[in-house]
Amino acid sequence: MIVASPKSITELKSIIEGHRKVLFVGCGTCVTVCLAGGEREVSISSYAIRMARRLDRNPVEILQITIERQCDNEFLKELAAPASEAEAIVSFGCGAGVQAIAERFPGKPVYAALNTQFLGVLEQQAVWTEKCMGCGDCMLAHFGGICPVTRCAKRLLNGPCGGSTETRCEVDPDRPCAWQLIYERLKSIGQLGRLEEVVPPKDWSTAWYGGARKIVRREHQV
Ligand code: SF4
Ligand code: SF4
Repeated sequence: MIVASPKSITELKSIIEGHRKVLFVGCGTCVTVCLAGGEREVSISSYAIRMARRLDRNPVEILQITIERQCDNEFLKELAAPASEAEAIVSFGCGAGVQAIAERFPGKPVYAALNTQFLGVLEQQAVWTEKCMGCGDCMLAHFGGICPVTRCAKRLLNGPCGGSTETRCEVDPDRPCAWQLIYERLKSIGQLGRLEEVVPPKDWSTAWYGGARKIVRREHQV
């Protein structure tokens, strides 16, 4: 899922400083699961901002709504009525959600309440870790399902750098060495022989360096 974290109340307050009536929009999918932008977080932030503005003697009215997915036009229809009442919209969705709302309401300021971080998994309660950078040419089959593009600090595709200490990465000892994990995984699935294959240079043309990417699946179009 997409993992995001909330901007501070101080930053959010400053972003909407000039507005008197604002719509806060939560998203019911990834950012709800990662406790950053669901109904609960929208409600807590609304309360905090209202209190802070009241103390500043500059009150603000905040409307609230949480829709199922901000990145899907189908659900954005629900915003039409509350958005028409507000001077500005604050999206608690990921960066895609913020931009989808901005395209839907071209005459309205739309702001991000979150910092979108990465594609990751819930490791343990309230701890998420990055697992994929969306490179567009998945190579996990070579590495026993552990991604060195994302998890090796040097993005090495043909073995470790040799700097790890007791299974920890030399760049950040808080992280396991991705190549240690790859070795252990390949060993446990009986594929250690893969370490002898030379992985060719990665085709980065499928990644993000050429600008925003687009997928069209004609077989699903009507
Ligand atoms: S190889 Fe690319 S697509 Fe596959 S997990 Fe790594 S970053 Fe994601
Ligand atoms: S120690 Fe391991 S994870 Fe860290 S940069 Fe070297 S090979 Fe990559």
